[in-house]
Amino acid sequence: MGSTDNHNPELDRALGALLGGALGDALGMPTQSYSRIEIADIFGAISDFKAPVSNHPIAHGLAAASVTDDTEQTLLLAEHILASPEKFDEEGWAHRLLDWENSVKERGLYDLLGPSTIRALEALFAGTLPRETGRFGNTNGAAMRIVPVGISTPVEPMSLLTDMVETTCRITHNTVEAIASASAVAAAISSGIDGAGVEGATEIAIRAARTVEKAIGDTNLFAERLVKAIAIADRSDGTSLLSDIDQQIGTSVASAESVPADFALFKHTNGDAWNAGLLAANLGGDTDTIGAIAAGMCGAISGVSSLPQDKLSKLIAVNDLKVGSIAEGLLNLRHFRAATKVAAGQAT
Ligand SMILES: [Mg+2]
Repeated sequence: MGSTDNHNPELDRALGALLGGALGDALGMPTQSYSRIEIADIFGAISDFKAPVSNHPIAHGLAAASVTDDTEQTLLLAEHILASPEKFDEEGWAHRLLDWENSVKERGLYDLLGPSTIRALEALFAGTLPRETGRFGNTNGAAMRIVPVGISTPVEPMSLLTDMVETTCRITHNTVEAIASASAVAAAISSGIDGAGVEGATEIAIRAARTVEKAIGDTNLFAERLVKAIAIADRSDGTSLLSDIDQQIGTSVASAESVPADFALFKHTNGDAWNAGLLAANLGGDTDTIGAIAAGMCGAISGVSSLPQDKLSKLIAVNDLKVGSIAEGLLNLRHFRAATKVAAGQAT
């Protein structure tokens, strides 16, 4: 899908979420797992798509502008949701993730399933019940692939959105911080689809995190980290933004670090996906996932028509991305869910 659609703002923003995420993923691809200092040593400053160095442990051999597991698993989850929209098929999802990893190996690549996901799938196939398999999964794999849930689920009632998030990530990431972080991202995406700005989407994201934490954990630790990260962005004039995030929030694969970091970039760039992706690429740590999440949220607010069109063309060509029918399918599901909510007589 290369064209933009200025006549359908909702589709523009759904495409923005999917392709903005891919843009951030591709920008962070060559710097993933390096520290901020190492990135400066190797690349100077990242200001465009770059190829990884030849000895990069995960990304070596990829061309500049290549996406990684973040985008592939986002599209995989979208396909899975659209294949059985009435009910999320958990076992089918586990098999789909394993099939995906086999395809990665067949392609000679090294970006395999993340730590929480692989541990959960091994437990599942050893006979552990689905509600038990994800109970240690606190890394950011749930948040990194949650865009399709945000597009396909209205933001109100909030319990519908957070239930959908929990349903899709329970099998791999059944922990308070993983579900709260994925819910925050999904809420930002969903409110963006409705036309919210950065300020409004951020408020709704914090509310989603608080809703989940209160319901399943009796805590507010993750929501407080979100608030802290957003305050760093609000205070910053930009000069020390990356070092402040690095030192005060963290950039690791832990949900409680990388996802608050995303909201700092989202807020600081005021929804500019390209800038958010560049900042993530220079931040260090889990740069591709941080870039994918931050730029995906930006794209949901600003739309695909706001992305730099030359960069978008390159991204689509290098990865042969086709997301038009996926975006339309997810929006149809969103409208269906909104209608059934009304038909069921629930408060809106
Ligand atoms: Mg990745």
